[in-house]
Amino acid sequence: MLTSDKCLSPHVPTAQHGHTRLRWHKPYRTLVRTRPVAWTCYCQATVYELCEGGGQAFLRRTVQLDGKPEVHETSLRSIRTTKAIWTELLSGRAR
Ligand SMILES: [Zn+2]
Repeated sequence: MLTSDKCLSPHVPTAQHGHTRLRWHKPYRTLVRTRPVAWTCYCQATVYELCEGGGQAFLRRTVQLDGKPEVHETSLRSIRTTKAIWTELLSGRAR
């Protein structure tokens, strides 16, 4: 674990009891260019990103395994809805 003074991004807290379980699937191949607009701290084994593209958004989850990251994404939704889910994730109410 890196020292906390290198941590600039939020850490994902332990999921609360009864939290919303998000549906994660393998990344779709999409023609729309997407870019991460927010992300959680890379010092944690699992990194979450809020990605936007084409007026929509989704969350990406990367589990940093040794040399072989495992990537899953949520479905495309409106930016507003996805930002609400992102807030839930960062507060431990969704995972
Ligand atoms: Zn950190």
